[in-house]
Amino acid sequence: MTEPLVAYVSMEIAVASGVATYSGGLGVLAGDVVRAAADAGYPMAGVTLLYRDGYFRQHLDASGDQHEEPQTWRPDSALEQLAPVVTLRIAGRPVTAGVWRYPVVGADGHVIPVYFLDTDRPENDEAARGLTRALYGGDARYRLEQEALLGLGTVAVLHALGHERVGTYHMNEGHSALLVLALLEEARTNAHGVPTLDDLARVRERCVFTTHTPVPAGHDCFGLDLVHEVLDADHVATLRALDLADDGVLNMTHLALRASRFTNAVAMKHGEVSRAMFPGASISAITNGVHAGTWTSQPFQDLFDRRLPGWRRDNWQLRQAIGIPLAEIGEAHAAAKHALIDRIAHTTGKLLDPNRFTIGIARRATAYKRNDLILRDTERLAAIARIFGGIQIVFGGKAHPRDWDGKAMIQHIVGSADALAGNVDIVYVENYDMSWGASLTSGTDIWLNTPRPPNEASGTSGMKAALNGVPSLSVMDGWWIEGALDGTTGWSIDAQTGTNDERTADAIYTLLQHTILPSYTHNRDNYLTTMRGAIAFNASHFNAQRMLAEYAIEAYTNQPDPKAISEERRLAG
Ligand SMILES: *Cc1c(COP(=O)(O)O)cnc(C)c1O
Repeated sequence: MTEPLVAYVSMEIAVASGVATYSGGLGVLAGDVVRAAADAGYPMAGVTLLYRDGYFRQHLDASGDQHEEPQTWRPDSALEQLAPVVTLRIAGRPVTAGVWRYPVVGADGHVIPVYFLDTDRPENDEAARGLTRALYGGDARYRLEQEALLGLGTVAVLHALGHERVGTYHMNEGHSALLVLALLEEARTNAHGVPTLDDLARVRERCVFTTHTPVPAGHDCFGLDLVHEVLDADHVATLRALDLADDGVLNMTHLALRASRFTNAVAMKHGEVSRAMFPGASISAITNGVHAGTWTSQPFQDLFDRRLPGWRRDNWQLRQAIGIPLAEIGEAHAAAKHALIDRIAHTTGKLLDPNRFTIGIARRATAYKRNDLILRDTERLAAIARIFGGIQIVFGGKAHPRDWDGKAMIQHIVGSADALAGNVDIVYVENYDMSWGASLTSGTDIWLNTPRPPNEASGTSGMKAALNGVPSLSVMDGWWIEGALDGTTGWSIDAQTGTNDERTADAIYTLLQHTILPSYTHNRDNYLTTMRGAIAFNASHFNAQRMLAEYAIEAYTNQPDPKAISEERRLAG
């Protein structure tokens, strides 16, 4: 492998559907970055934690109440346990972490390792063993200890594995920002005193940071009392001396911003919102993309292999989908829709009709995403459905165990099903994961997205839909602002309308009744043209290959070689 290497560090990395160490968008995006790097033969290694109980397994009872169980899985069924172990100090005691490796294999066979840190070892006390049990579980202390493990452990484990030339540490979200403390220890010129601003400048050369949420509560903050309990005194002294913790609070985003040579948001609009949130910080934007080989359904893979051979190595070729005959788009989509309907029949017993217009909406169930907004006026929705011979809606998505509004939203959706049955058939797929994500974004006829703007940093499932010729019906927010071509890639609800629930619902009904359903029902070629446009204009751009190319050009260029840095230090010293 050519080095220096990019170490891509993330609280979650979704390497495969069955490796349950991810909860949703952040982890799937991280996995797609690594998969794109593997295709490109880019020098990268991923680092994350191994969660033996996963996020959670979602079960919905008849009234739509969400029940959570551990999503246990067998690390040794998919991962290779490596020999090196590292020992860190967390909360005043030694914590030993082992490491597992998952090989992400690219289209041409290039392998990118993803390393999973694991503290479930006999050397550790019970609490330390539990640190790699649950993703986003526990209290603030549990979370800070996990983030200490991820941050400090990343630097230690890459050394232990012999990756001596890590040019860039890419912090995917602020969770891993404590790695800055480990790098400061290495960079410090004075072996006895605390690190200096010059040392911080050298660390900055080695770090880049991606921020993922425009919602203030999404940025981790820890009180300094807690920080004192979890981190060693010299680390706390470093935070103080370099003014890296403000007003008694350690804000992980502020820390990452201060310590990174390059920072980006994940869509253009999110860049604007982030610059307003963090005045003075220099924040660029690289819009997310999804991994084409992973998110394209089999029927469309076959179609692209036939019509655009080479699309896997060069996703820009998808632009040429504009020349694919409409009938072939229609056939591939019909096959993907059949596969979804079969899967739903098999898992839920519910039979959907392949000829009925089918709306997909699946994402984390949380208030601002408004997954249930289309059900705001059920009588109107039923009346529209009757005009066009009925519609079907497939929902999916987990609510965080403590997100009561999100849970109520799922109940509202499940509770609406009976009254609407016959006109609007509703299915809520349990335990939404990568595999269901692939089925739903390819097997539905339109992908509905109704976040309250400007809360959606990017969103990615609409991009997966585009790869499969599924247009979006979306509020103007996140990536869709860049992908919206009215009637060509989907249909839009402007941002101002989008801030008001009632008017957003009204806009959805109006578009469905007067534009989308007439096209789907009475003018098939017109609808197929929009489907094809979604591929040609959006799949060709909102893919992980383009995203990685932008990271390579804007964020990873001039990666410093740490060997050269230490030589410089030796000469200076
Ligand atoms: C793609 C994906 C997401 C992210 O979807 P958004 O549109 O960004 O909300 C979340 N969960 C799973 C399982 C996915 O596949």
